[in-house]
Amino acid sequence: MNNMDTEIFDLFTQYEEGMDRAAEVIRQGGLVGFPTETVYGLGADAMNEEAVRSIYIAKGRPSNNPLIVHICDMSQLDILVKDVPKRALELMERFWPGPFTAVLDKRPEVNGTVSGGLNTVAVRMPSNRYASELIRRSGRVIAAPSGNLSGKPSPTTAKHMKDDFMGKIPVILDGGRADVGVESTVCDLRGDVPVILRPGGITAEMIRSAAGSVEISGGVLKKLSEGEKALSPGMLYRHYSPKAEVYVAQGADEADTVKRINDAYDGYERQGRPCVIFCLDGNAGLYRGRNTYPLGKDAGQMASNLFDALRKADEDSMSVVLFEAVSLDGMGLAVMNRIIRAAGFKTI
Ligand code: AMP
Ligand code: MG
Repeated sequence: MNNMDTEIFDLFTQYEEGMDRAAEVIRQGGLVGFPTETVYGLGADAMNEEAVRSIYIAKGRPSNNPLIVHICDMSQLDILVKDVPKRALELMERFWPGPFTAVLDKRPEVNGTVSGGLNTVAVRMPSNRYASELIRRSGRVIAAPSGNLSGKPSPTTAKHMKDDFMGKIPVILDGGRADVGVESTVCDLRGDVPVILRPGGITAEMIRSAAGSVEISGGVLKKLSEGEKALSPGMLYRHYSPKAEVYVAQGADEADTVKRINDAYDGYERQGRPCVIFCLDGNAGLYRGRNTYPLGKDAGQMASNLFDALRKADEDSMSVVLFEAVSLDGMGLAVMNRIIRAAGFKTI
């Protein structure tokens, strides 16, 4: 895209100035990079179709992959959706503000660009105070996908956003690190049972305990076969991928996983291809003498560090990333969903 000056505001020291400028840009139909508790977002006025279109263009995002619309209070829900089922409202009240996205029937006034041509719209109320204030100050509902170029790992810091959008958008707000580190849980709330279309910061267990039951859509962990309908179009695309080749190692048991990783690592090393192993802190000792990025002591910490680590692998000129599979409970489901896609479904 064109070369424009990108203004960066550090919200710790330039809060008022940054917020006012960003809100003005949103009202004028421009794009703003801003922090949320999940990842950084690339935002625009959701009800301004031209502005929404420019998000897809800036990211290189396929036009049938819909965006999430962010709101700051319940009154804004009425702008976007009609007839909210009681069960859906209870879940929204339980998990909002937070990393939970509700898919509901959209009002006809909501443009088809933001909804990727679907009759539904995805809505979320973020808990990050900067995100919330930006929505409030702009007086708009803000459509915002993750603020990365399509296909690349999502941004968890303002630096990641600068890497992808410097000179391409007018404003980036720097509000520090995104804590959750992976995107929100996208959940279809139209039926009797909530269906997770994309796992994220609110776990399946949390939804089950609030709703009594939960389903996980088929596209979450496996590749959809030709002709199979994607309930969440984003599941179709190659995603979150660094330049390095990524493989997920899932052995019959832990010893087998470790053996697969060490054998693959040594093979690539012999070919002169620099490798790194992504693992839990406690397992780093199992890969003695080899290059590891310990990502944390549990799946929640792994989620928080994953995208940064994928970008770092490229900065460190790694050719291969070997990822030690984690169990699917809690945040493990979201971590595995992201890494499997980053790997393009390649396993060892
Ligand atoms: P991102 O904006 O990068 O966090 O991606 C948003 C995710 O939400 C993508 O996987 C979309 O496919 C999904 N999504 C957004 N709107 C809808 C919708 N109306 N129905 C189903 N999935 C949606
Ligand atoms: Mg994204």
